[in-house]
Amino acid sequence: MGNRKTMPAAFIKIKGHQCHLKKAILGMVFSLCSKYKIRKGNGRAESHFCSAITVYIMCGIIGYTGNSCASPKITKGLSVLEYRGYDSVGIAAANENEISIIKCKGRITSLEEKLSDSLLQESHTAIGHTRWATHGGPSDTNAHPHRVGDVVLVHNGIIENYMEIKKELTESGVKFSSETDTEVAAAWINRCYCNLKDPIPAIREACSRFTGSYAFAIMFENLKGEIYAIRRGSPLILAEGKDGYYLASDITALLPFTPKYHILDENSIACLKSNEIKIFSDSKDACIPEWKITSITPEAAQKGGFSHFMLKEIHEQPEAILKSVSPRIINGLPDFSGDGIHGDFWKKIKNIQIVACGSATHAGLAGGYFLEKLAKIPTSSYIASEYRYTPPIATDGTLVILISQSGETADTLAALRYAKAHNIPTLAIVNAVETTIAREADYKIYTYAGPEIAVATTKGYCTQVSVLYMIAVAIAHQKGDISDQTAKELVENISQGAPKAISHILSQRNILTEIAKKLYRHEHVFYIGRGIDFHICAEASLKLKEISYIHSEAYAAGELKHGTISLIENDTPVIAIVTENRLYEKTESNLREVKSRGADVILICRDDISSDNHSTDSVLTIPSTSDVASVFAAIAAVQIIAFDAALLRNCDIDRPRNLAKSVTVE
Ligand code: GLU
Repeated sequence: MGNRKTMPAAFIKIKGHQCHLKKAILGMVFSLCSKYKIRKGNGRAESHFCSAITVYIMCGIIGYTGNSCASPKITKGLSVLEYRGYDSVGIAAANENEISIIKCKGRITSLEEKLSDSLLQESHTAIGHTRWATHGGPSDTNAHPHRVGDVVLVHNGIIENYMEIKKELTESGVKFSSETDTEVAAAWINRCYCNLKDPIPAIREACSRFTGSYAFAIMFENLKGEIYAIRRGSPLILAEGKDGYYLASDITALLPFTPKYHILDENSIACLKSNEIKIFSDSKDACIPEWKITSITPEAAQKGGFSHFMLKEIHEQPEAILKSVSPRIINGLPDFSGDGIHGDFWKKIKNIQIVACGSATHAGLAGGYFLEKLAKIPTSSYIASEYRYTPPIATDGTLVILISQSGETADTLAALRYAKAHNIPTLAIVNAVETTIAREADYKIYTYAGPEIAVATTKGYCTQVSVLYMIAVAIAHQKGDISDQTAKELVENISQGAPKAISHILSQRNILTEIAKKLYRHEHVFYIGRGIDFHICAEASLKLKEISYIHSEAYAAGELKHGTISLIENDTPVIAIVTENRLYEKTESNLREVKSRGADVILICRDDISSDNHSTDSVLTIPSTSDVASVFAAIAAVQIIAFDAALLRNCDIDRPRNLAKSVTVE
């Protein structure tokens, strides 16, 4: 190992002063890095990705009507849903005379204080909301529920044409108190209800005017004990409990009450009463839901002894990988027949377009690397919100793979619909079962990672990469590019090697914490790598930004000297990842370049790479049992580094500022 310092607890010296990059230069790095292209080896495939922070949007909705008191159920459901948005929170509950609303900026605890001495507690019918503000800042007034006339509602999504509707309503004398699109929707539904006097046709008529996405839970002043629900582009799930009926935007909010659920179809209207539930679709007579039983336990959505959901989910990764890959292994070989995908399907694929958002984009880039390396299939990765504008060129044999943890990501869904409209075969890699993307894609592969509650994805991303790797091995095997023996080895590398490598890294927490201590006082960090490591760097960088608010950039190691090296100052942390031996020397040269300019250099590399290395200040070695095992070890390492840096900065790790889990608006 020569002079290289392997990582002991005391390996790191936090140097005297922090590095502050100049604002002007920072502006440049944002514009440089916010979007760039990677031209793939085949010369025609091109992928784009954005290393800027990803915004997840989706609020939480919960509703209950039945024989029990509603407000404890609503607050319980809201506390589970809070990771979906936490700008404000509110509840509307029907009592003898009217519907009362309590709402406030901030978190569920603020609402609970207000609720404690309120009559609302006795109500048996209520709806609740936790908001991720899109129209109007977080405030008491903009908080949901909103009331206009006889209508009280909560909303998830965006009414895109709310301005024109608002103008029309304002001209006819309606006054608005909030800045939200939601209040406009309430006013429009109220107008339709005043005209039609019947909730179902009124809701249908009103919603036919709305563009954008929505899930509404609606109460009417004179219809006590009833809740109405409709959705388009945003999820909404109905549930039957022993003591009444529920609705929620996410199944995790229902788990404390009942496992019996039904996903409301788009544009169908549900009417929940204490002893009856009906669904009204456009075409059919009213029907009752076809209930299913979820296998997700309430414990799956709890912290299970960990301090944070994110830490729990990082530690769940070895098991999550197994759950993702083992249903796709038969006699040691990759086999997706359980997903309805047979060998011939893979043989017909000539090129792949992967479409996703945020970390799933990074999973797509890493998976694309495997698809090109192992399966020799030209693969391009696209940011979902850009896919329609690129425009993608599909030929005979093109497969579009869409990746979404939640299965409801609006941009990814829009890309899926675009691909379908152009008759391109689609395959969805999704975690949450029976979600819109899973249902609409031609083929679906579930990652079976279990509920992911932390806003920053870890096991979701990890299992997406695992599934893409398995697809790459399946294609290579089906095409006859690799023997049975090689395919079996590659499968074993992920099903056994990767979980072991992750567990090994997680047992080195003290070393990872020492790296985090090197970073947490800095404002700017660089991750560099080549090949697949560049894609891991992108995810590492995003993770750090998301939860610790340290500005970080991921660079292809060889690219730094073409401009960005000007940002390296004395003590700027530069973390290099090397999971492939063949890339070590070149990346090491890049480390020397930044070291000469004063960077504090941290190297994460395989334990079988040995060389005299004077260019690193510290080294973390990762298991080298196989390339793919090293990749997953590096992923776990950078997740813990981000987590510990955020912990040292006292950040709200599970609920980072401005973010919320999942995406239901474009
Ligand atoms: N567009 C609505 C608002 O800004 C709903 C946002 C959400 O889904 O939380 O209030």
